[in-house]
Amino acid sequence: MPDLPAITPAVDGPSLGAVTGLLDSWYPPGWADSFDAVGTVCGDPSAPVRRVLLAVDPVRAVAEEALEWGADLLVVHHPLLLRAVHGVAATTPKGRVVHDLVRGGVGLHVCHTNADSPPSGVSESLALALGLTDQRPIAPEPVEAMDKLVVFVPPESLDAVSDAVTGAGAGAVGGYDRCTFVSTGIGSFRPLSGAAPAVGAVGRLERSPEARLETVLPRDRRPAVLEALRAAHPYEQPAFDLLELAAVPSARGHGRIGRLARPLTLGDFARQVVSALPSTASALRMAGDPLRRVEWVAVCGGAGDFLLEQVRGAGVDVYVTSDLRHHPVSEFVEHAGADPATPAVIDVPHMAAEWTWLPRLADRLTTALTGDRSATATTVEVRVSTVLTDPWTGHLAMSGPGA
Ligand SMILES: [Zn+2]
Repeated sequence: MPDLPAITPAVDGPSLGAVTGLLDSWYPPGWADSFDAVGTVCGDPSAPVRRVLLAVDPVRAVAEEALEWGADLLVVHHPLLLRAVHGVAATTPKGRVVHDLVRGGVGLHVCHTNADSPPSGVSESLALALGLTDQRPIAPEPVEAMDKLVVFVPPESLDAVSDAVTGAGAGAVGGYDRCTFVSTGIGSFRPLSGAAPAVGAVGRLERSPEARLETVLPRDRRPAVLEALRAAHPYEQPAFDLLELAAVPSARGHGRIGRLARPLTLGDFARQVVSALPSTASALRMAGDPLRRVEWVAVCGGAGDFLLEQVRGAGVDVYVTSDLRHHPVSEFVEHAGADPATPAVIDVPHMAAEWTWLPRLADRLTTALTGDRSATATTVEVRVSTVLTDPWTGHLAMSGPGA
């Protein structure tokens, strides 16, 4: 867990760096897919932040809204510059957005695929918006491999060893650091010929009080933590145990599976989906019997065809996602003939599905940035953009010739 800049209550508001650091702690950039481009696009980390605007897409209309409102920071889901560019001249739409934001003193920060999979992320927000409970990821991410370190230390060296190992990356658990447990007991040892003991003498059995210091560490920090331990420990041969912890299910992962409060027909569920998502010019499409019973639902914010195979065997009644193409859906529903348990499919507008994250992020940011609303608390305003950035502007059902 990186050190976060302090979010200091101040009249001018927290710094932009403090706010983006907070976002990065919730949605670490390391969780983003390798193709992605997340993080701060523009903005001065030392600039104060009083107004934060949240949107799905960093398009021109959203940038104009940010400027008109006087936002100091615009947080978006989709990257402005996903592919490499050689410049941001204002002659292109993306360059124009960069110019306008920089000129207006508005920072731009992207939380994309790093915000898709974690708790309080995009897919969880979509599932909550559709009324799903008992949520779990469709495809859980493996938990970070962890070790447990147990080291025996003379009491007078406890602080030094604890500082060393936690400084090298041990003892971080969720939003906490320097997590350790200490118990005391009696250690015994006998230095052999050739040893240079810090305590005791060669050939004599020594008994002395020792502290048992326990902590955890990410497995990839193992070399650094052991090096720090050996450097700080006063003993010639520090006694320690290093144990690999068993993997436990992660709450993070692509998509979510959840349950409706009461079963519905597919048709009624589709109507519920339509009323739960923001109104855009696009339409919901579905593949399945409208009278089919629906209770367990899988969802994935954004383009979710990569989860079709996993959803097929997940025991759900319907899969809700976006941007589904003809062939994957055609092949998916073909299986319904051979296996009636094959889920129905609902395709919803990409922007509308991912928009469900914004109000939840606004609440989370507001709570974190305004603290207890005491006299010294900051007065940061967080607002969800009113611009609907679905690129489609209309739809008509086909009514021409056909079978
Ligand atoms: Zn998306």
